[in-house]
Amino acid sequence: MKTIGLIGGMSWESSLIYYRIVNETVKQRLGGFHSAKCMMYSVDFAEIESLQERGMWGEATRKMIEAARHVEDGGGDFIVLCTNTMHKTAPDIERHVNIPLLHIADATAARVKTDGLTKVGLLGTRFTMEDDFYKGRLIDKHGLEVVIPPAEERRDVDRIIYDELCLGEIRQASRERYGEIMRHLVWKGAEGIILGCTEIGLLVRAEDSPVRIFDTTRIHAETAVDYALEK
Ligand code: GLU
Repeated sequence: MKTIGLIGGMSWESSLIYYRIVNETVKQRLGGFHSAKCMMYSVDFAEIESLQERGMWGEATRKMIEAARHVEDGGGDFIVLCTNTMHKTAPDIERHVNIPLLHIADATAARVKTDGLTKVGLLGTRFTMEDDFYKGRLIDKHGLEVVIPPAEERRDVDRIIYDELCLGEIRQASRERYGEIMRHLVWKGAEGIILGCTEIGLLVRAEDSPVRIFDTTRIHAETAVDYALEK
């Protein structure tokens, strides 16, 4: 079994879920007392969030490379960056370490395609919904059609992530707002919805969506186990 190198803390609310899923999945696959060989380097999210907010992506990238090097030095065989948003820095991380990075958008796109879907709605932070590093990868590398909510709805999706979910606050009114936004994506032809932020799964359940949801946290963590157990 390979050692999974998790980079967490963005936020720790979702890193906890990663830790649980990688262990549960190894136990399901191997049985008995088996658990995941893994390590986590966890950052102080206040530092990262502040850099995002100020658009200081160079410094944020430097911190992600530093975290990845800690994982590599600590014996991680591959990197699992436990946040969609910070995959904005993934190409730079890949250039600065010698171990592979398991990209969250690739893992998710593979699952969407296995399920036979071609057009998906994407929810996440404003960076994930609006910048090209994520949506562009789903479209160009994986041939998916991607729909995102209009500006006013994107503001709510992003606000609920940072002001509530990353702080561990789960509110019914926000769940209903996400439900409404997901219905609008389905009206625009989405056959499934990517929960493209690792905290959204804390709020949205399958029954809140009219179509299948793809929880990137679960998919990424399960794919990490597939890779760790690959011969
Ligand atoms: N965990 C989130 C994500 O998956 C947002 C927090 C962050 O900005 O990293 O995008």
